[in-house]
Amino acid sequence: MIDFNKLIDKYLEREFRPKQIGRYYPSEIGGCLRKTWYSYKVPKATDTKLARVFEAGNMLHEFIAEVIKSEKNKDVELLQSEMPIQIKTKDFVISGRIDNLVLLKVCDINGKFKDDDCKQVLLEVKSTKFLPEFCKKEHEMQLQLYMRATGVENGIVLYVQKDNIETKWFDVKLNVVEGEKIIERFEKIHESLVCGKMPIAEAKMNKEDKWMCDYCPWKEECDKEGSF
Ligand code: SF4
Repeated sequence: MIDFNKLIDKYLEREFRPKQIGRYYPSEIGGCLRKTWYSYKVPKATDTKLARVFEAGNMLHEFIAEVIKSEKNKDVELLQSEMPIQIKTKDFVISGRIDNLVLLKVCDINGKFKDDDCKQVLLEVKSTKFLPEFCKKEHEMQLQLYMRATGVENGIVLYVQKDNIETKWFDVKLNVVEGEKIIERFEKIHESLVCGKMPIAEAKMNKEDKWMCDYCPWKEECDKEGSF
């Protein structure tokens, strides 16, 4: 008989390409820097279970884009999806893709759209098992970086619960100081990769981030090292 698990895994199979030092990604800067370091120094192919989780997330992202694009929702307009961004410094490049750039329209009392009051909003969609109480710092950092790269001053992190499409969202304003701190983190990871010096085990050392270790593909290697 047909083995659908095998079919899906085959379909999702991607050529494994190790990452290059000097090219970084917004999604990895808010998590544990030691994990990011391992992902460059001890590259591992994405496990099939994780590839399925990513694909399920992509499907939900497409659904949200369709909702925004719909004629039924006239107060929002999808300006761009999967919009590429790049931040270049003298030593490295940060590149990523913003889920959606949305135009939020404002109506006057007669129901007519007022062009002057329309505003652009960057939307970062996150699929999740449970809706969080607060915006996760790693997601806010990712969005801050996108706002810095585009100059768009308003952003939203939108969480979508996978099993029932319930949503929760958090407004994020462009914050230049936060943006600087994020670039400093990239400088830190770049330096430690170039020097071959492993960063501290950030997630393990922070009570709120310890959960990240349970999903870390380098947990075994990390546990053999000290935290510093
Ligand atoms: S096990 Fe935890 S502390 Fe170690 S690299 Fe992974 S996420 Fe970071």
